[in-house]
Amino acid sequence: MKAHDGMYIGGQWRPAAGPDTIAVVNPADEQVIAHVPAGTAEDVDAAVRAAREAFPAWAATPPAERAAGIAALRDVLVARKDEIAETVTAELGAPLALSRTVHAGVPVLVAGSYAELAASYSFEERIGNSTVLLEPVGVVGAITPWNYPLHQVVAKVAPALAAGCTVVLKPAEDTPLTAQLFAEAIHEAGLPAGVFNLVTGLGPVAGQALAAHEGVDLVSFTGSTAVGRQIGATAGAAVKRVALELGGKSANVILPSADLAKAVSVGIANVMSNSGQTCSAWTRMLVHKNQYDEALALAAAAVAKYVPGERVGPLVNAKQQQRVRGYIEKGLAEGARLVAGGPEAPYETGYYVSPTVFADVTWDMTIAQEEIFGPVLSILKYEDEEDALRIANGTVYGLAGAVWAADEAEAVAFARRMDTGQVDINGGRFNPLAPFGGYKQSGVGRELGPHGLSEYLQTKSLQF
Ligand code: NAP
Ligand code: MG
Repeated sequence: MKAHDGMYIGGQWRPAAGPDTIAVVNPADEQVIAHVPAGTAEDVDAAVRAAREAFPAWAATPPAERAAGIAALRDVLVARKDEIAETVTAELGAPLALSRTVHAGVPVLVAGSYAELAASYSFEERIGNSTVLLEPVGVVGAITPWNYPLHQVVAKVAPALAAGCTVVLKPAEDTPLTAQLFAEAIHEAGLPAGVFNLVTGLGPVAGQALAAHEGVDLVSFTGSTAVGRQIGATAGAAVKRVALELGGKSANVILPSADLAKAVSVGIANVMSNSGQTCSAWTRMLVHKNQYDEALALAAAAVAKYVPGERVGPLVNAKQQQRVRGYIEKGLAEGARLVAGGPEAPYETGYYVSPTVFADVTWDMTIAQEEIFGPVLSILKYEDEEDALRIANGTVYGLAGAVWAADEAEAVAFARRMDTGQVDINGGRFNPLAPFGGYKQSGVGRELGPHGLSEYLQTKSLQF
């Protein structure tokens, strides 16, 4: 695959400060497909300076012009969607159909939504005898994971640019090629030099340097809880804004009145999509005791369609594959029963994991508490609605969830009692404008739509 051997800083590709590189591996066949530079603190510093330099002019650019820039970016993402899909498939391993529809498609929706919001948002409001100005926070340090390589980037960069902020991005080491393509798209869209800068590199080196840099005003991070905690502490010590999106352990609650077959099959599809590497995946399915055996049979039939190498891709790297297989072993050791799949890898080559469904899972088992980040579903039995609610809310996470019932109002009544940031009612559609983010340890802050835009704004009140 084509790769740049430099960093995109101040509107151009520049040589990296150090000689080290990162090998990019195709997780489907384990072949090295490219190398990108491993950034150092020096590269980060150059990128933050470029972003600082570009900030005053970009902040002062009329919102309609910023909107036009984001619309141009959206158009480039549309024009290059095939290349984007192929790149995501090569470095993440996602089946090409998924790369086309989701990995290349969703960022177009999100960029488009911010082109519209930048043009229509009211950056000024009147409260009593005050005029409140909504001004950009400044330079944003964005640190993104590999699971949705372009979406995670666009969900931070588009609202930041719409707000008038400038950005330095440190993408995941596993998926830097998609990030380089994004930098090309920024350039092609004609956005001013320095409003977006890219430093590829390792988390503990380039990521750490970016989070700690005193020229960064806001750190927006998506990834693991362990790293998120560290970034939150670093930002807190520097009195810097921080947004953390840290994953989840979401519940798919099937109430007794629901269409069980539909709820189970949509639930399986939700967990198996992207090989289970989705922070908002409904990895715990909650079924009433009287319907439990029927649900297990439905789940076994549904999961059989998810053949690794066809509908289900590999995991992103060997470490994630080992980690997920370890969780499956742990589930067995703690007494859960396999309905499908298991810890053995289905192929010798490629970081595949068998789509796995566990029955007889209790709420306190490790596989029902920790984020596995693989194609693994736990089906739990509940006694009554109160029990279902206790189980649904019984983790440290609260990112997403689902409720199914014959009557929408019944599902909504249950959803109101869930400690979580998003709930899909009877399979509700993805909404790129709805705020996305966590209750409890799933994080701090919101992404997408107007709520996502406001994360990048600060208020100044003028009294008259
Ligand atoms: P991770 O290490 O938290 O990676 C997220 C991002 O943070 C990457 O860009 C990473 O760089 C960077 N990073 C790592 N250490 C850092 C540090 N000390 N300072 C600043 N930045 C740092 O996540 P992972 O290791 O790829 O995945 C582990 C687990 O995290 C998964 O199994 C899953 O449970 C969870 N996860 C959640 C999400 C989500 O959407 N919420 C996404 C991915 C993973 P490198 O790429 O170089 O590590
Ligand atoms: Mg990591």
